[in-house]
Amino acid sequence: MNREILQELVEIVGEERCKTSQEDLLTYSYDAYLQEFVPDAVLFPTSTGEVARIMQVASAKNIFVSPRGSGTGLMAGSLAKEGGIVVCFSMMNRILEINTANRYAVVEPGVVVAELQRAVENLNLFYPPDPGSASVATMAGTVVMNAGGMRGIKYGVTRDYLLGLEIVLPSGEVMNTGTVTCKDVAGYDLTRLICGSEGTLALVTKVIVRLLPKPKAKRTLQAVYDRIDDAGTTVAKIFEAGIIPATLELMDKTIIKAVEEFVHLGLPLDAQAILLIDVDGEPETVERQSAQVAEFCKAYGARDVRLSRSDKENEQLWAARRSAFGAIARVRPTCVIEDATVPVSYMAPAIKKIIEVGERNGVMTAVLAHAGDGNLHPFFLCDQRNSEEMERVEKAMDELVDYALSLGGTISGEHGIGIPKAKYLSRQVGETSLKMMRALKKVFDPNGILNPGSFLERTA
Ligand SMILES: Cc1cc2nc3c(=O)[nH]c(=O)nc-3n(C[C@H](O)[C@H](O)[C@H](O)COP(=O)(O)OP(=O)(O)OC[C@H]3O[C@@H](n4cnc5c(N)ncnc54)[C@H](O)[C@@H]3O)c2cc1C
Repeated sequence: MNREILQELVEIVGEERCKTSQEDLLTYSYDAYLQEFVPDAVLFPTSTGEVARIMQVASAKNIFVSPRGSGTGLMAGSLAKEGGIVVCFSMMNRILEINTANRYAVVEPGVVVAELQRAVENLNLFYPPDPGSASVATMAGTVVMNAGGMRGIKYGVTRDYLLGLEIVLPSGEVMNTGTVTCKDVAGYDLTRLICGSEGTLALVTKVIVRLLPKPKAKRTLQAVYDRIDDAGTTVAKIFEAGIIPATLELMDKTIIKAVEEFVHLGLPLDAQAILLIDVDGEPETVERQSAQVAEFCKAYGARDVRLSRSDKENEQLWAARRSAFGAIARVRPTCVIEDATVPVSYMAPAIKKIIEVGERNGVMTAVLAHAGDGNLHPFFLCDQRNSEEMERVEKAMDELVDYALSLGGTISGEHGIGIPKAKYLSRQVGETSLKMMRALKKVFDPNGILNPGSFLERTA
């Protein structure tokens, strides 16, 4: 980028909030996908007005712009894949309003999800979307990725709580979508269009979300299995009985071992699988349903079931699951995370399939799953310096994608498409849908300056 353009950008945000040193650029050349794309500069706006002015300059001078929250995305979405500037929203991080009467919150894009959760829980309200990265990921990052997470099974995903947005278009125009009311059918639902757009259509500068009353009680169960199939069957049986837990997570033996070696929680190293289940709601319902779930776990093969007695014990049981990503990343140099999702009744066969595909391709595999909503996270543990091994990983991924699609599932339940899944997108959505997506992108971003090199450009 030439000096004059850089100077124009510095005039908008000031020297302090325009980073160009090698150290700074390297820091912002990664997200959780762990492939390097070095930007020309990183800007930290503090207001919508600054974002609009940045986009006016970018649009006039044809500068590529990649928006960024906390960089926990697993799909390279926030990286400057074709160069240009990164606009990082970490300094637009104020909770602007929590409206208890109408149960909504208005936040700036860089508010961390867990901070909003804590703030509303202090007022006896509840913001359910709960990705594993909630303590770091930003509200706008979760909106444009339509993040899911642990509580998707009962409460849905980010999209289900989104009421409205303030966005800045690539041209620099500011636009509002949605309202603060739960009902709103005024025209096309542009709020939902931006949700899940992976930062390719507009920059989000304000988010309005719906809140629920905070559940009065919660109990956590940990069920330990000698056979992973039995854990899968238990999941199906809990649903058949009409119980919808708040969370239902599965860890296989490789994850259990990695977590135990990492955080020493006393997990059973000889177990083949652990289910972690939360039941929440009114106290009497929680008591009744947690007892029922414990019975199901035992009836379908759990050798040990532990039921928490306090919030502190709930947290202790969850500590294992929350450290799973970090723990498994230590096992081999590279960790490729899959995110294919199947209808929940296929959980048990899908887990078997993952293990079989991994073994047949000679790839070390571990399985973590948001088991209650069919969202599988197989980890392929490998070394990206070994091209022959990576070919086997690709083959295993390919087979799992086809398998999930053959069951009516999806290539990505929550992590998005980005670089790694782009080549699979047409298999799921077809050419006509892709044509419509490309046309929409052109309407929002005719010059293609926003987040170029993202999933659409990489589809076949
Ligand atoms: C340990 C770990 C656990 C995870 N668990 C889950 C999980 O359970 N469920 C789940 O769904 N995901 C999960 N993720 C993935 C990730 O956390 C989510 O995708 C999250 O939504 C990213 O938020 P972020 O603020 O880090 O965004 P970033 O990674 O910075 O960006 C993500 C995308 O959003 C765009 N973007 C960011 N801010 C804006 C903005 N203001 N305007 C427009 N576009 C913007 C970027 O360009 C990029 O395309 C996990 C990741 C990790 C590392």
